[in-house]
Amino acid sequence: SDSDAESEPAVKRPKVEDHTKLVATHYNEIEEKGLAERSQSRIVFMRNFNNWIKSMLINEYLNKLKASQKLGSPLRVLDMCCGKGGDLLKWEKGGITHLICTDIADVSLEQCESRYKKLNNRFDNRFGKVFTAEFFACDSTLVRLRERYKDPSMELHLVSCQFAFHYCFESMGQAECMIRNAAECLAPDGYFIATIPDANEIMRRQRQAGNRSFGNDVYNIEFICDTEKPPLFGAKYKFKLEGVVDCPEFLVHFPTLVKLCKKYGLKLESKVGFADYFQKSLPDGKGLLSRMQALETYPAQKNAKLVGKDEDYAHAQEYLGQ
Ligand code: SAM
Repeated sequence: SDSDAESEPAVKRPKVEDHTKLVATHYNEIEEKGLAERSQSRIVFMRNFNNWIKSMLINEYLNKLKASQKLGSPLRVLDMCCGKGGDLLKWEKGGITHLICTDIADVSLEQCESRYKKLNNRFDNRFGKVFTAEFFACDSTLVRLRERYKDPSMELHLVSCQFAFHYCFESMGQAECMIRNAAECLAPDGYFIATIPDANEIMRRQRQAGNRSFGNDVYNIEFICDTEKPPLFGAKYKFKLEGVVDCPEFLVHFPTLVKLCKKYGLKLESKVGFADYFQKSLPDGKGLLSRMQALETYPAQKNAKLVGKDEDYAHAQEYLGQ
């Protein structure tokens, strides 16, 4: 309202659409890098590690669902903020039957759809479709997703939002919209899983640095909000990660998230930091971790060796503790 504008003359707030356009443009413009170029990136091990965490998390919940379902039951998934489809193979390996993919970045979504088509072509002749899928570009913080589904009455078993949920904490309205999207089509025994930056850890590092801007030669965070008392919504910072991300993000105040989720019928089952999730998942995920070469971290790469032996896992602690 006008009176709001008068009370905040010094802060020029971008409109919601301006900010989300910025995010979409940023992700659209990240070119599809070849495997070779990607593996030269200084953050390759961290990316692989994050990817391993996602694999373990997705498998954990698909397995829970399969254990409680009858054999041959449908397994329908929403990949909210799917990006270029980095998790498509995980869905294929997990044996799901239907996937809904959506992202605000239309170019990324097109790449995701064409990856899916390629995956399908590999299977089509011999086994039929790998799984059915639908794709649409939209802002999950502003649009009711269910209205875009081919069948709006469809029940989902798993909603996954990986490394993206924090974008909705720009305002309470956006957070509620995203949470409702995650919750409203879930079957009664379905799950919503997400990975987000740890707001407490970010604030700890900010306090330690004693500066609005901090980081190292791989990442940088610059706060664009009150750091003494960050707001519950709109606690904005610019996050730069070498060659991958250069985008405004928002802190997620976890107790507020839990409260909002409750309003939409979701109950907190588990909240785990990456360090603890790593420890918990290691016994089952050692083989995959090795294959993904997920542990050596920059700058601890000077004597880089392939991961595989137990003592190599010490490097993970270095990354997680950084
Ligand atoms: N989930 C994918 C993955 O794990 O590989 C992509 C993660 S990427 C770090 C974040 C994604 O969130 C981007 O593709 C971006 O376009 C998407 N995104 C950000 N804000 C969004 C919004 N409001 N609605 C839908 N997608 C959004």
